Amino acid sequence: MDCFDLCRFIVTVKNQKIVNLKGDPEHPLTRGVICPKAKHLIQRHHHPQRIVRPLIRTSNGFVPASYDRVFDLLADNLTRVKNEYGSTAFLNYTSDGYGGMKNRSQAIFFNYFGGDSRFSGSLCWSAGMAAQKYDFGQARGNIPSDVLNSDLVILWGRNPRVTNLHLYTLLKRARKTGTKIIVIDPVETQTAKAFGTHIRVAPGTDGALALGMAHVLIMENLIDQAFIMDHVKGYQRFRQSVQAYTPDYVKRITGVPAEKIRELAVQYGKTPLSAIYIGYGMQRYANGGNAVRSIDALAAITGHIGKSGAGINYASKSLAPYLSGPEETSEGFIKVQRRFPAPCLGSFMEEANDPPIQMGFFSCGNPLVQTPDLTRAVNSFASLPLTVVFEQFMTDTASMADLVLPAATVFEQEDIFVTSMYSHVLNYSQKAVDPPGTLMPEFEFYLELGRRLGLEYGFLSSKEYLEQCAAPLMAELRNNTESSVPDFKGLALSYTRMKSHDLAWADYLFETPSGKIEVYSENALADGLSPLPEFTPPLKGGIKFPLRFLTCHTKKSMHSQGFMDKETIPEVNIHPDTASRLELGQGDRVRVKGENGEIIARVIIDKAVYKNTAFMHQGYWHKSGAVNFLTRERVTDMGNQAAYYDNFCSLVPV
Ligand code: SF4
Repeated sequence: MDCFDLCRFIVTVKNQKIVNLKGDPEHPLTRGVICPKAKHLIQRHHHPQRIVRPLIRTSNGFVPASYDRVFDLLADNLTRVKNEYGSTAFLNYTSDGYGGMKNRSQAIFFNYFGGDSRFSGSLCWSAGMAAQKYDFGQARGNIPSDVLNSDLVILWGRNPRVTNLHLYTLLKRARKTGTKIIVIDPVETQTAKAFGTHIRVAPGTDGALALGMAHVLIMENLIDQAFIMDHVKGYQRFRQSVQAYTPDYVKRITGVPAEKIRELAVQYGKTPLSAIYIGYGMQRYANGGNAVRSIDALAAITGHIGKSGAGINYASKSLAPYLSGPEETSEGFIKVQRRFPAPCLGSFMEEANDPPIQMGFFSCGNPLVQTPDLTRAVNSFASLPLTVVFEQFMTDTASMADLVLPAATVFEQEDIFVTSMYSHVLNYSQKAVDPPGTLMPEFEFYLELGRRLGLEYGFLSSKEYLEQCAAPLMAELRNNTESSVPDFKGLALSYTRMKSHDLAWADYLFETPSGKIEVYSENALADGLSPLPEFTPPLKGGIKFPLRFLTCHTKKSMHSQGFMDKETIPEVNIHPDTASRLELGQGDRVRVKGENGEIIARVIIDKAVYKNTAFMHQGYWHKSGAVNFLTRERVTDMGNQAAYYDNFCSLVPV
């Protein structure tokens, strides 16, 4: 699952039917606790509207097609397009799906076929990933249970009560033993309400707050000179760059009282076991990458990193780098490739002309709900000559395709799962039930398509593929003399993790060019960015669209998955002051208008929301009101990520 926690389920099957699932109590992190989204997977699996056979569009709508017909159609067109236009006329849109290694099969196919056009970056987290790469060389976090060793935890734009259940559970335990927890967020989230210490920061100004804290830490001499000397590059330049960020100046930007900024910095500086957990929302601004770099700098100057109870925990690339062997091998077969930034799918499909896109393949995602500027994306998708979508349901993306191919559920195939979001543990998922007889899982589909086109993949079966994925990891585990290294079969029975990664950067061997934390990054400079973390004021709404538009995750759904059966219009949450200024009342129907489109929503008045902000949940399908009809294709300062939260709207009573 595309979730921080990566639970593992014990599934009960009767007569090839999944009748129950529960969390595995042996799982070292999740301890058998799962959230309602997991139970929802059973409903999805057995849903009467699930797509279980290939469907081809005709003038009378979709009709079933045999796999033979599909393979003939695709093999002919793939060969023709490659000969006439070259490989970059293929659009390969592969997102993360349920997050298993087999989700890479479409990408591997196109690599072996000679190349394609595909996106760089991501819709949701790559600004922060790029930031941590500049600073540390990689995004790494401490093992989640290490939060129990912290004296102070700052949750910076992170709302674990909604999006990271097991971190929330650990934090509750930590608090019982005296850990202080502070939440920095423009919204008084459920997590902020639960822990009580909330610092409300103006949206998009987190970077300024971090630079203000750095200013205080330096002025009050709460920095670790020895650590800086040994492990930090660029401190003197950074010191100069934050001189202007006095608490009074930062107060004017962030809305946080100067005394509170000072207190926060002093508390962080004086508590050696201070950990910061950054969420993904605070980097979904045009200045998002620099905001994360500014927070990273706090650990650099205090030395609160590389030890238990500390760290800047944004993501945790622990196992994933050791599992992508077959995909890396396939990359050697790419002859030509064209890239575009992930948020710019619509404009890319519309504008690519050398060559124009002739065939679009979409798997592991529902871009016509999730991608920004949906009007443009929908129109340009519709104008592609041939579109192929792998899906479990007739989503907004699938319903526009020429060919819809059924996708297997997580219960229908074995796979290896890791997440780089936070968990350090590998899950090996066994097949619980057979897929319907009419359905060929994507992995087998691409094996067969490759065979028909004469491609030699280097693996002939699912088992061979997964063994090749796991081989570098097991070799690394052996090199690191981990106490118990399972064989391939043993992966299914164990919870493998790299114990030497439990504490991120404990060896202080940062993976930057200098081997130090680079608060001054030549790599950033070479990429046309400020070498030092810098603050650029967030975009502002204008007279026409005065409200900042925040579109966050719900507790109940993974992106658009849980909205399939929802027919109701979405809710738009606004602060009571905003409601009274706009003369709106609880439950009023409004037109939420953005720069590119509009949807209908119902007003919820909620003092948790920041003033002059409209807060909605993302994931609703077109039939209800998809928020991305309002958003634009704005890209973050680094990492090619969607600056979703730098969008604006107005509310007009219906
Ligand atoms: S959504 Fe996340 S927390 Fe919920 S069951 Fe799945 S992995 Fe666990």
